[in-house]
This record gives sequence, C-alpha cells and structure tokens, in this order.
Amino acid sequence: MTLTQTKTEYEVVIGLEVHAQLKTKTKIFCNCPVDFGAEPNTNVCPVCLGMPGVLPVLNKQVVAYAIKTGLALGCEIVKHCKFDRKQYFYPDLPKNYQISQYDQPICSNGFLDVNGKKIGIQRIHMEEDAGKLVHAGSDRLHGSDYSLVDYNRTGTPLLEIVSLPDIRSIEEARDYAQLLRSILRYLDVCDGNLEEGSMRCDVNVSLRPVGSSILGTRSEIKNVNSFKSLVRAIEAEIERQTEILNSGGKVIQETRLFEENSGKTVSMRSKEEAHDYRYFPEPDLVPLEISKEWINEIKETIPELPHNKKIRYPKDYGLNSDDIKVLIEDRNMAEYYEAVIRLGANPKKAANWLIGPVTAYLKEHKTDIINSCMTPVQLADLLVFIEKGIINDNIAKAEILGEILSNGTNAKEIIEQKGLAQITDEGALKQAVKEVLDQNPEQLKQLKEGKEKVRGFFVGQVMKKTDGKASPNIVNKLIDEFLK
Ligand code: ADP
Ligand code: MG
Ligand code: ZN
Repeated sequence: MTLTQTKTEYEVVIGLEVHAQLKTKTKIFCNCPVDFGAEPNTNVCPVCLGMPGVLPVLNKQVVAYAIKTGLALGCEIVKHCKFDRKQYFYPDLPKNYQISQYDQPICSNGFLDVNGKKIGIQRIHMEEDAGKLVHAGSDRLHGSDYSLVDYNRTGTPLLEIVSLPDIRSIEEARDYAQLLRSILRYLDVCDGNLEEGSMRCDVNVSLRPVGSSILGTRSEIKNVNSFKSLVRAIEAEIERQTEILNSGGKVIQETRLFEENSGKTVSMRSKEEAHDYRYFPEPDLVPLEISKEWINEIKETIPELPHNKKIRYPKDYGLNSDDIKVLIEDRNMAEYYEAVIRLGANPKKAANWLIGPVTAYLKEHKTDIINSCMTPVQLADLLVFIEKGIINDNIAKAEILGEILSNGTNAKEIIEQKGLAQITDEGALKQAVKEVLDQNPEQLKQLKEGKEKVRGFFVGQVMKKTDGKASPNIVNKLIDEFLK
C-alpha cells in the first residue's frame, strides 16, 4: 500500500424496474373489480384466492394496455407469447405462484427519450399483483405482533417495465421515472400514484470506476414510494457502495429496502436468481397470438405524448421550458391549453392564465381542469375580452374567472350583470385623471421632474375612483396629455 493513496472516481449505473397497476375495471384472470381502498377481502373469488380446481381467464384489456404502452415506448410487440408460473411462497400469494411472463415478454427493445438521451427499455411484461400484508398490533420492541392479509389486490393486472442499465445519474433516474409516469397517465393505462402503490419502482444501483466499461455488482432497492425517496435512496446507496469500494470491499448482489426515517438502505435478502423461481409455462392459459390489425388499431388510440409536446410547444407557441413543463405534466391540462389556442387565444397569455390564476384556483378547490365548470371556449372568450380592452386583467382575475370556474357562467354575462366593462370613454376618464392630479400636487411635481415611478400611484388612484374599471392604457395616455 502506498502512502499517497489516490481516490478512485466512480460512475453510477442505474436501471429501473417499474411496476404499473393497470386501470382495468376487473382483474387480470377473473371478474373481480379492481378497486383501491375497498373493504379488505371483499373483491375476491375462488380464482384470485387460488382455490384448487379453478381456471384463469385472461382479461383482453390487459393485453391491449400492454401493447399500447409498448408502442408508446417504441418497443417491438411480439406476435406470439405466453405466460409463465413464477413459484415462491409468501402469505400474500395464495396460489404460491404468480402468473407472469418469463422468456417471452409481450414487448421488448424500446426506449424512452429522457432530455434528449435514449434510455433503453429492455422489456415490458404482464403479470398479476399479490395481496397485501398489513402488519398490525403494537409490540414496541419487535414491531407488529401479528399480520393481516388483504387479498383484494391479488390478481390486479401489472405491467413490469424494465429499463436497461443506461441511466447515469440520480437526476436522470428521477426524470426517467417522472416521464414514464406521465406517459402512463397520458395513455390512461395507469394512474401513476406512487403513494397508493399503483406505480412502484425498484431501483438497481451499481458503481464502477470512471472509464470502465464493465458493469459493477448491483443492489436492488425496493420500497421506493415517491420521487423524493427515489432520489434519497440512490444517494444513500451511492454513499454506501462508495465506502465499501474505497475500503477495499466488494458490493454483494442483494435486495435492499429504503428506510424513510433513517434515509438509509438496509439489507432485505440476498438476490434470488431466476432458477430459484422454477419458472415453467403456465399450463392453464393458452399462448397468445397478437394480430397486426389489433396492434394498428391500438396505435390509433395513442395521443401525442408529453416528450413530443415538449419539442413542439416552443416552436408552435413560443413558450419557455418552465411553462411547458407545467402545462404538459397532465394530459388534460395540455389538451385544454391546445383547445384554447385553437379558439384564437394568444398562446403566451393563455399559458400565463392557466399556469397562474387557473391553477391556483384548482389547487385551492382541490379539483382539476376537466372537473371545473370552465370550458376552453369560455377561457378563450375571457382572454379575447381582455385583449380587446373590454375588461382589464385585474377585474378579469378578481371578479370573473372564479365565477366561470365554479358556475360555468359566460364572461359576457358576468361583465354585463356586474357592470365590469372597462371605462374606455376618454371624456369620462379625463375628469377623474384631472382630479387625481390636482389633489396630489407633491406627486405631480415629482412626475413632472421625470420620476416615472409615481405614475403607478396616479393610475392606482384613478382605478380607485372608478372601482377598478378604468382602462389603464387610456389613463396613461391622459396623464401624458396633461403633462404636455
Ligand atoms: P431481476 O428481476 O433479477 O432484478 P431484471 O432483469 O428484471 O432482473 O432487472 C434487472 C434490472 O437491473 C434492470 O433494470 C437492469 O437495467 C438493471 N441492472 C442490471 N445490471 C445492472 C448493474 N450492474 N447496475 C445497475 N443496474 C443494473
Ligand atoms: Mg428485479
Ligand atoms: Zn377474483
């Protein structure tokens, strides 16, 4: 060992396995409803409870959603595939095996364009979810003293979306996961709710010396249930592996858990290998044949996706990347925005209104754009009224917008009922401007000396006199005339 030890620089390599619960009405192999939050063990039947002598029947919608997702992620869709049994024993798995896909996943070789870099998607396969253990009781020393099991979740359809180990930073991992969630939501196949477990991430992390082309040994971190935890878990794992490698140790391949409280990952079990699961073709289901026609039919249903909007919006609407990010996050918001533009609103103004006051209202009322009462036509009309100078911005925000959003009343009606139209009659405003100037000789002197700041004061005073209805443009023009 030399005394001047040079520190090795490591590069992080990350691959993500994402489990997405599909938004089908019923489970993958039986007719039980898929319903988060139902009374425990009420959405169950002999099939999903794993009773002997029952047979699974494949839900066609699951296959359609898998194909849709595969197409959106640039995957090849296989012509033939099958299901396989993955055997393991755990109390949340009443059959003692999970029906999954092993060597013939329905989709493979896709990619996701994350900030201009292609992250490979190795495979997407269909499988059934397990039940849920609820650790109950309160033994303070040993955790819970008994566990309950809820089988409502067994048989909920899942897609497992496996990336290649192409991710090279924590930010890239987060951006990949966020974009993937957004795409699943655009496709309307999964609600992407990490907290409720409808989208779950397993993160594979390894380190290797910078410049090396050989992959290091990975650990797989489970139990990451928010984007924030994803970032923290990778940070913690990089730190842990760096310490091991720097002290001459070896990282072992294992499954680890991220603990929210300590912010550390802890060992859960040594990594199982595929042969541990004794995979074999599921004998109770026939292999699948997927026709080209069906694939083409599904292709037609794919909307423009967020990463494509991200490229198109600056060109078509001249928006900056921050605004775009907010608008495209949710498909309904993006499509609403586009509708308002098609109706003739100014793209920048419409974006400002949606991102600003409209979003603030929706947040405050815990709702979203399609559940509000305001149609794109109504917002476009409101913006046109402002553009034409019929009402000013402040009045539109304070007196009109909230009413449209909550009652769906047209702006025109509100303006008429409340008498909100801007005063654009110069004769009427002239008097008000003159009065305000006369009443404030000190400020007038300053304005005459070129202190433009006091102009706002005068405009404000005129607004006060006119219940906020004066046209600021005309008031400014009149002030100029008086100063001449
Ligand atoms: P398993 O089910 O055994 O975890 P999978 O093939 O389903 O295996 O998933 C492996 C995941 O681990 C993939 O997302 C892949 O990109 C990632 N991965 C594989 N090797 C490494 C590595 N050396 N470092 C980081 N991630 C890796
Ligand atoms: Mg895995
Ligand atoms: Zn069932």
